[in-house]
Amino acid sequence: MSPCYDLHAHSTASDGTLTPAELVRRAHARGVDVLALTDHDDVSGVAEAAATASEVGLTLVPGIELSVTWSNMTIHVVGLHVDPTCTALRDGIARQQAFRHWRAAEIARRLAKKGIGGAAEGARSFASGPIVSRTHFARYLVEIGQAASVREVFKRFLVKGKPGYVAGDWASLDEVLGWIHAAGGIAVVAHPARYRLTATRLRRLLTEFTELGGHALEVVSGSHNRDECRYMGELARRFALLASCGSDYHGPEQPYVELGRLAPLPPGCVPVWHAPAWPGVSTAGVA
Ligand code: AMP
Ligand code: MN
Ligand code: MN
Ligand code: MN
Repeated sequence: MSPCYDLHAHSTASDGTLTPAELVRRAHARGVDVLALTDHDDVSGVAEAAATASEVGLTLVPGIELSVTWSNMTIHVVGLHVDPTCTALRDGIARQQAFRHWRAAEIARRLAKKGIGGAAEGARSFASGPIVSRTHFARYLVEIGQAASVREVFKRFLVKGKPGYVAGDWASLDEVLGWIHAAGGIAVVAHPARYRLTATRLRRLLTEFTELGGHALEVVSGSHNRDECRYMGELARRFALLASCGSDYHGPEQPYVELGRLAPLPPGCVPVWHAPAWPGVSTAGVA
């Protein structure tokens, strides 16, 4: 049987609810052979995940999911096989985290104006790693009874046009691909169907991404339906991008799929793990 790959997952280093060690153990128990830890704007969970992976006999891909401001919106780019000690990457992470800290205070200020106090401290109390995410605000607002679910908090408070929304001021696509490449990584456009882009804008994103040296598209995602996977498979082929797959797992409470429980890549897609830069891939015989 071919190995089971899950190349997008979160731990408590960002907005996941399992520690890196718990995540790796669960992935192993669910039959995942190769797991990428891709926390938002952070790599601090990688060492613990790698240590547990070598204990249980799973291959851990050191990764990251970087937030990008592109065309007045936020998109996510996953870096796979990044060197977590790379200075350019670390400097980039520091900058993203500085924006996150400023944004957390700003979200809290806006919520306070709507009569919801203490949200900065509240969100912080749900974050055990270095980053504060909107997910942490959402969990806090659920705890204090402002909404019944995380999803409802996003809808009522945290998305564009709602009281706690603060526009992203993340790095550019150019900068983020620069950090990933400096760290020896492979760049992947994460969950492309989630942005609800028109066909024209999606083509523009993929054109810019390939021109900047980006290599892969997350064709199969826990947040894509079957038609979206098929369509993204076509786009990967058209743009000569490699295809990645990941659950985007955040913990047992989240609505997406279980670790490793992913549809196969559509026919004709070249898997990202066949990239020459993927460790262990032999280029012998390739002209
Ligand atoms: P941030 O990077 O802090 O802006 O938060 C983005 C994260 O919030 C995503 O990675 C998801 O985990 C989560 N998220 C975004 N939109 C929603 C939503 N509508 N419902 C639940 N979680 C969401
Ligand atoms: Mn998340
Ligand atoms: Mn994402
Ligand atoms: Mn993610």
